[in-house]
Amino acid sequence: MATILDGSLLAKTIRTELSGEVEALQKSSGVTPRLDVVIVGDDPGSVAYVNMKRKASMAIGMHSEVHQLPADASQEHVLDLVHSLGGSGKVHGILVQHPLPRHLDEQPILDAVLVNKDVDGISTLSLGRLIVGLPGFRPCTPEGMMRLLAHYAVPIEGRTAVIVGRSIILGKPMALMLLEKHATVTICHSRTKDLADICRHADILVAAVGRAEMIKASWIKPGACVLDAGYTRFEDGTHVGDVEFQATCEVASWITPVPGGVGPMTIAMLLENTIKAARRAAGA
Ligand code: NAP
Repeated sequence: MATILDGSLLAKTIRTELSGEVEALQKSSGVTPRLDVVIVGDDPGSVAYVNMKRKASMAIGMHSEVHQLPADASQEHVLDLVHSLGGSGKVHGILVQHPLPRHLDEQPILDAVLVNKDVDGISTLSLGRLIVGLPGFRPCTPEGMMRLLAHYAVPIEGRTAVIVGRSIILGKPMALMLLEKHATVTICHSRTKDLADICRHADILVAAVGRAEMIKASWIKPGACVLDAGYTRFEDGTHVGDVEFQATCEVASWITPVPGGVGPMTIAMLLENTIKAARRAAGA
């Protein structure tokens, strides 16, 4: 039976530590870390995520502001806002909630976030730093998964890792982070042939697609570690990941549950990055 990689529990421990760090920073420098989130439109899923991030920030004593722009906001309007947050000495972290409405050109907006405030780690500059191996903010979801691997002492060096999904926020940076830790990495996507066979070679399998239980237990190598970032919500309010969970528990050695695995770690990493940004801004 697989060990459950309990993201809720680890994230709770991290948040408790971060709460202490916020207090210490306030005492030593009078600075309260602040995360500002920009959201365009009122997509219920995005609004829910943004509120969750704000609530999590406030719960550890940070400050957080949400800037909600109308769904038809122009490129200039969004860019002006991101630039003004970049220029504010009070704002330490900026997150632009994506996806943005289709009429907007997303990457220039993400790139308008100053690298020292890019706590989501998905600007071209932050991702470039990851490729080169320079320090910088890493995208929160893959960073959260790496933290889970480290916490549960899952071996990475020399292991075969397969990542299903190649998005900029998830699949691609996860591949780079595993490579940095000396895994041998394969990235799969919608046009990959023989996906099941490739997955069967994975010592570490990362699911980052967003299709309910598409990865079957029969695709899992016995003893593998399975990280499931996928998230599909059904109308009845239940949700599942990309991996057939129950049956995979019988085959794998480690697995993240959905919910309670990768999701809470993403938010914990966002908070951690914002506090780091605030500490640097305060010269602490
Ligand atoms: P995305 O941008 O839509 O990317 C999905 C990836 O899956 C693409 O690379 C796509 O391939 C690939 N794909 C689609 N169908 C496939 C198939 N049949 N076989 C193999 N690959 C396939 O999604 P995302 O933003 O990376 O998010 C992925 C999932 O993670 C979603 O469920 C999302 O809700 C979840 N997520 C969770 C967190 C968290 O904190 N837990 C954070 C972010 C996202 P192509 O590139 O060829 O199209």
